[in-house]
Amino acid sequence: MDRSGYVQSTCGICSRNDAQRSVVVGFSNIKCQKCGDYCRPEDWLELPTDEARVRLSGYVRNQNIVGIKPRITIDLARTIIARARPTLMERARQALTVIARKAPSMERYDNALLNDPEMRAITYSLDADDVYILVRLLNADGLVEIDPNPKQFRITPKGLVAAEEMSKTAPSAQAFVAMAFDPSMDDVWTYGFDEGIKKAGYEPVRIDKKEHVNGISDEIMAEIRRSKFVIADYTGNVNGVYL
Ligand SMILES: [Zn+2]
Repeated sequence: MDRSGYVQSTCGICSRNDAQRSVVVGFSNIKCQKCGDYCRPEDWLELPTDEARVRLSGYVRNQNIVGIKPRITIDLARTIIARARPTLMERARQALTVIARKAPSMERYDNALLNDPEMRAITYSLDADDVYILVRLLNADGLVEIDPNPKQFRITPKGLVAAEEMSKTAPSAQAFVAMAFDPSMDDVWTYGFDEGIKKAGYEPVRIDKKEHVNGISDEIMAEIRRSKFVIADYTGNVNGVYL
């Protein structure tokens, strides 16, 4: 056990046995080289297929990207497993951000990322062949160059520029809620939006009153850009919500 209380353990998602685990009351914090950082109940579920594992590890990694360590209840896990993987184009975009971050050389062909656990998790890929499909899609758009024999690739200048643009609008597991801040709305937030959004597998963000009065600040615009979707509740006809 290290100072932070982590011990070596098996990841409940991908079954790697070199994950790190620390137990808090009823819950385990897990750090997995493949799936990333997440929190799960002590009573965890048996994952039926590799597809289910891929959906969960992809979910965790994409939450981690936006700075969230998700707490995955059994209900949430079932919701995520039932949800389709992102589209090929979305997965290819994610692959490009990983390539730009971990193998940004435009000179040297490399294939290490086909087997990289983080790459596989972020892009919801089952195996190296699955990652290679995404690389070929990026190649069709001129974002990477491929040396087919053996299968290796390198990013192009166009790919680096595209990855830079994408880093400004990271895909997100966040949901932005604009609503009135009257205390009478507290139950609507607590039992409506907050609970509902979390059950759907997203992290709700509600801006505070001060920012509301000042209209839309850069900070709010950034939060909206980081969000997968926005909920606007016009109850009370609050100006800030219309803005
Ligand atoms: Zn894992």
